[in-house]
Amino acid sequence: MNTDFKQLLASDKRHIWHPYSAVGSDLPIYPVESAQGVRIRLADGRELIDGMSSWWCAIHGYNHPEMNAALAKQLNRMAHMMFGGLTHEPAVKLAEKLIEITPEPLQSVFFADSGSVSVEVAMKMAIQYWYASNRPHKQKFLTIRYGYHGDTFGAMSVTDPINGMHSLFADVLAQQYFVDAPTCRFGEACSNEDVAQLQHQLELHNDTIAAVIVEPIVQGAGGMRFYSANYLRRVSELCAEYNVLLILDEIATGFGRTGKLFACEHADISPDIMCIGKSLTGGYMTLAATLTTEDISRTISDGEPGVFMHGPTFMANPLACTAANTSIGLLLDSPWHANIAGIEGGLLNGLQPCGELNNVKDVRVLGAIGVVEMHEPVDMKTIQPMFVDAGVWVRPFGRLVYLMPPYIINGAELDTLTAAVCEVLSALDL
Ligand SMILES: *Cc1c(COP(=O)(O)O)cnc(C)c1O
Repeated sequence: MNTDFKQLLASDKRHIWHPYSAVGSDLPIYPVESAQGVRIRLADGRELIDGMSSWWCAIHGYNHPEMNAALAKQLNRMAHMMFGGLTHEPAVKLAEKLIEITPEPLQSVFFADSGSVSVEVAMKMAIQYWYASNRPHKQKFLTIRYGYHGDTFGAMSVTDPINGMHSLFADVLAQQYFVDAPTCRFGEACSNEDVAQLQHQLELHNDTIAAVIVEPIVQGAGGMRFYSANYLRRVSELCAEYNVLLILDEIATGFGRTGKLFACEHADISPDIMCIGKSLTGGYMTLAATLTTEDISRTISDGEPGVFMHGPTFMANPLACTAANTSIGLLLDSPWHANIAGIEGGLLNGLQPCGELNNVKDVRVLGAIGVVEMHEPVDMKTIQPMFVDAGVWVRPFGRLVYLMPPYIINGAELDTLTAAVCEVLSALDL
């Protein structure tokens, strides 16, 4: 590595926070020079096959010529424009597209700048809806453990209390209602017993609960758990029964990752409010959106205070909307169903051998998501360089080693990825 990069690393270590990290940390960190397709090129010239899609986002891989061209074209028209009192084609086109591809009742779109913000917006929508409906006491949220909804305070309040360190923020976090996560797995039925806790809480507190918020089918960063579609359907039915809105956080699951365009399609349900983000722009720009029904948007607009109380500075950024329009076009024009089915098969085959290891508790695959759950948390200082040496980019957290590659990955590249995971975990299997 040349001295420029050594200085860069020294400066990075001294001054910069990375996600969930400490400044001055001794954990390994790698400067990236560029990326192309499914390959990340490090500053020292090594190339890694990407197993993470930059956290669910880069579904078409990196440096995609059509994405680049569309963004360059938009850049020459305008990079940004305030959204108060002004509008533009990329935003309107994107709203129309999102309404077309999400469940039918969702008709109104709020553009947010990140997933966490879209969750804040969803929660505010639910509260404002009930306020406008003369039910101002419905301001609480009910959710399930092991969830992850983001890092801002509202989103954090509905994120798993232990993973989210709620005790640390006890005096500022809103107190919400939590029930145990479903134990019925994806592909299994669920019994009345599975939803009994949730139903009980709804029965007790529906007067104060604005909405139930869950990640549909896949609980992502909170545990990479895949749960029963039947359970999700029961949640939806119970919300209707107890007059509580349903917010589905599709930020990780949206745009095909689970094998359906949106994970709620596995249960054949539609939410009152839906959050999307992450792969919305194909990993190019930060953008998220909160969609809701015409009934909810109209009720909010017709009630007090007559407007929805949110408006980010970079709302509906034209470059980000262009990235999203282009990414969605690429996805829908591709044989994405077949691609994801192919990845699912490759992950199943490739990760199966890991299941034999003593340090492995469970191997599970859904769509283009492969998870190896370990018995003990992995040591990042040891395991991260092992993956890099094996030529792959895999970023475990806690007990979870998982893959969610770009949809453009080919069979040989996927084999390299899964073989690297099994090799590294078996080397650690004492
Ligand atoms: C990543 C994620 C978020 C937060 O999105 P950010 O863009 O990181 O703020 C919220 N919910 C789910 C399910 C996520 O996976």
